[in-house]
Amino acid sequence: MNDKLEELKTRLGEIADLTNAAAILSWDQQTYMPPGATEARAAQLTTLRKLAHERLVADEVGRLLDELASDTADLDRDSYEASLVRVTRRVRDRQVKLPTDLVARLSRAQALGRHAWEKARAASDFSIFLPHLEELVDLARETAEALGYEERMYDALLDRFEPEMKTSQVEALFAELKAGLVPLVQAIAERQDAVDDSFLTGEFDVDRQWELGLEIVKKMGYDLNHGRQDRTAHPFTISFTPADVRITTRLYPDQFKPALFATIHEAGHALYEQGISRALDRTPLSNSASLAVHESQSRMWENVVGRSRGFWTYWLPRLRQTFAPRLDGVSDEAFYRAINRVRPSYIRVEADEVTYNLHIFLRFEIENLMLEGKVRLADLPELWNAKMVEFLGVRPPDDSLGVLQDVHWSSGLLGYFPTYALGNLLSAQFYQQAVSEVPEIPVEIERGEYGSLLGWMRDKIHTRGATDTPAELVQRITGGPMRTEPFLRYVRQKYGEIYGVAV
Ligand code: ZN
Repeated sequence: MNDKLEELKTRLGEIADLTNAAAILSWDQQTYMPPGATEARAAQLTTLRKLAHERLVADEVGRLLDELASDTADLDRDSYEASLVRVTRRVRDRQVKLPTDLVARLSRAQALGRHAWEKARAASDFSIFLPHLEELVDLARETAEALGYEERMYDALLDRFEPEMKTSQVEALFAELKAGLVPLVQAIAERQDAVDDSFLTGEFDVDRQWELGLEIVKKMGYDLNHGRQDRTAHPFTISFTPADVRITTRLYPDQFKPALFATIHEAGHALYEQGISRALDRTPLSNSASLAVHESQSRMWENVVGRSRGFWTYWLPRLRQTFAPRLDGVSDEAFYRAINRVRPSYIRVEADEVTYNLHIFLRFEIENLMLEGKVRLADLPELWNAKMVEFLGVRPPDDSLGVLQDVHWSSGLLGYFPTYALGNLLSAQFYQQAVSEVPEIPVEIERGEYGSLLGWMRDKIHTRGATDTPAELVQRITGGPMRTEPFLRYVRQKYGEIYGVAV
């Protein structure tokens, strides 16, 4: 078995190198590349990704996996060998099922769709994007058919981001969450005067914002010997192996809140990637368990930790000093309430942690209707706005603030949105589990120490990479399935207190 395993690892290592090299080109494209290089870069990326794809679907890899599957059949499911074979197979099967010509048509439709979406959003004119969306939805159906599914077409698309999660499970979780959140949001909307955040706007030196953000994420445990931060238009985290995990941020001169919390969020993603065991390097196991698990880490640091009283017990004096005398006269309590203000709004990415999930329910419902042909795509703007009124009580004044706001559909990413809300659920579930096992975590956070919290996440989640499916991971850590109760308890308690509401 050892010879075959070594041969498989050699091949997978080369595929990982190609994929990671493509990721570096992509990082460069989003940070420093001059705009005139777009076409040349697209060709380079296509070549590297094609090479990686061809090497993975090669017959020899299939043969090795077949032979190793029987060789490892008696091994513990959790062993490195059995996990490598199982996870590589799952990743490869998905790629094998997609015909090359479908991949090429998708890639072309996405490039054109992205371009049309940008124009449509700028002009707030859905009709510009409509024909492209029709083609992209057709291709999504074709993709789902090629990948296969048992119950719902959406299952096949969701599985690309949340391995083995079913649409019906998401529906059940979202129904519970919606029943809990809608009344809370309504009660808070009636108490808008309870929180004033006007002092968060003003002049805030961008270089100081940058330095403070870095100081905080270093203290969280982000290792700059294996990472760096750069500026970008849309913040993201990217990993080229745990040895090199980079974050990006966007700075605004008139407010510090967006950059600061985006930096903490991205560092949460980066801590996950930096924590993946180096023993899994250059294999499909050197990856996250799923997008929701990834998002659980970023949301936990950004919201559950980063917007808590305890976190600011340590950091507020430092923040005051950084921007003195801007926040003189603002009490600790007023600051805490301001950074947690809840307000129903049009734009998902600007939403607070209570209303955020409502934006996701809307997208999830609409994606299913689109995929199953239950809505005419020309009617989407009206459907979107009606659901905004139903869920959030606000009606977008135009389509750029409504149905055209997100890039995902134009990039062919149907089935992606639910992972954000599932990540919110897991952020609370994992944090509460960690505190129940290590009760000193909250006290350490008040002292600006994160070793116990990070250590727990490292041990239970990060080091394991993609060894487990998300459901296996949640079961292993919490002893049960993914649940809405920890998140609902968290928001009811926190926001009930801030807004003086009981729901
Ligand atoms: Zn994120």
